[in-house]
Amino acid sequence: MIGIVGGGVAGLAAAYRLQERGHDVHVFEANEEMGGLAAVYETAGDPIEKFYHHLSGAEETIVDLAEELGLSDRVEWRYKTDAYYVDGVVHPLEKLWEIAAYPHLSLYDKFRLGMLTMEVDCTTFPPSTDSYDDIEAYEDVPVEQFLREHTTDQVYERFWVPLLDAKFGSRKEDVSAAWLLGRVKFRGERDLLRGEQLGYFRGSFAVLIDALLDAVGRENVTTGTRVTGVDTTGGTVRALTAETENGSATYEVDSVVVAAMPNVLEDLTGYACDIDFQGTVCSVWSMDRSLSDAYWLNIADEAPFGVLIEHTNFVPPERYGGEHLYYTASYVQDPAEELWQLSNAEVEDAWRDGIADLFPDFSRDDVNWVRTARKPRTAPVYERGYLDMVIPYDLADEVADGLYYAGMASEAQYPERSLNGGIVAGFEAADRIAEKGMRRERPPQR
Ligand SMILES: Cc1cc2nc3c(=O)[nH]c(=O)nc-3n(C[C@H](O)[C@H](O)[C@H](O)COP(=O)(O)OP(=O)(O)OC[C@H]3O[C@@H](n4cnc5c(N)ncnc54)[C@H](O)[C@@H]3O)c2cc1C
Repeated sequence: MIGIVGGGVAGLAAAYRLQERGHDVHVFEANEEMGGLAAVYETAGDPIEKFYHHLSGAEETIVDLAEELGLSDRVEWRYKTDAYYVDGVVHPLEKLWEIAAYPHLSLYDKFRLGMLTMEVDCTTFPPSTDSYDDIEAYEDVPVEQFLREHTTDQVYERFWVPLLDAKFGSRKEDVSAAWLLGRVKFRGERDLLRGEQLGYFRGSFAVLIDALLDAVGRENVTTGTRVTGVDTTGGTVRALTAETENGSATYEVDSVVVAAMPNVLEDLTGYACDIDFQGTVCSVWSMDRSLSDAYWLNIADEAPFGVLIEHTNFVPPERYGGEHLYYTASYVQDPAEELWQLSNAEVEDAWRDGIADLFPDFSRDDVNWVRTARKPRTAPVYERGYLDMVIPYDLADEVADGLYYAGMASEAQYPERSLNGGIVAGFEAADRIAEKGMRRERPPQR
């Protein structure tokens, strides 16, 4: 039997692929609910993710998996509407004419920004379309230096700094240009007139998690069960120990896939990963009204949260019994930060005031309900030298034969962590187990 630590999308994908290859699997999930970071709240209609989620056009593995699971008709693609809040005004910034009308960058700044997003390097003569192909070449280049050289100071300061502040806070100076270029490539194709499409599952990403659970077999999954030890005596994985509220039990296993954050791998096996992670505090708000036309609102002005996302400007409110659903969220670099120290009720209070500051006609009574989730590790800090720190899928050389990793510190989760990346990581780990099994079965060649 192969033991899988973690019932998020990566653990379930690994289990699914291993079963396809003929292996017995068992998934151990510490929480009572499955799905990890993609877990959902119930609403008056469809469920909604506790942390905002959508698909980018370049993500193919998740779409292929949906098809395999009979969910093709659940994947919906819709044009998003990005906007920038500057000096009290919401500026739509998605379609060509909106970008042309944006008053906070000159025409030349917009041209340089546009060239970068189309992966055209204007620092060479003639401009080059392949200098950004090898993103690893930019691993050691600080993102600020890169952006000042490859766009303009105004573009860096007025466009990128608020975004980098929201995404990486006090760690923004550590981030590599490779991360930024990876993000540019990671995005789907952009239609100049209509903008970019994003994907979503009708009924939320819980539909995918449930279909994976059904495919794997609910009898092969145990929730409320935390793996607390992996026996690697003699350099080979032999057993794992898991705890429930009723006590602990040890299971003999042939292999273990750790599909959880790297601190879990370290606790279980001693393998230390140097990647730093940031946490997230994220609230979902239900209101009876819309605040603007934007789905994703980046905020250049002072605000107590990093981003405001009006989910029902992407997925229609009718899906949620007519309620308008929003996210406010902030990343946390250090648990000593004030935001992390606040209770959920205090966060909600401060953020409610923050919404009122941005939208003066918003009244506190507009809120039907609000729920807040937080996790201490939700995204890696993609700092310079990141790729040297990723955890290999097969940890036979580093720790013990039979130990595999498919969590967020794996290569598939670069340059951005995603559900697609989690599925790829789960598949990669499963494929390595299957290949090793086949090599063992094959007689040695003479
Ligand atoms: C704010 C936010 C926004 C995001 N936006 C997007 C987006 O728009 N699009 C997108 O595709 N992705 C997005 N993501 C990323 C996506 O959610 C993750 O990449 C993906 O869910 C990771 O899956 P995972 O299975 O690797 O990890 P997780 O979802 O973290 O699952 C790991 C599981 O392991 C369990 N576990 C931990 N320790 C143990 C143990 N000892 N024993 C048993 N179980 C254990 C945990 O309880 C958890 O359920 C976002 C994430 C966040 C936080």
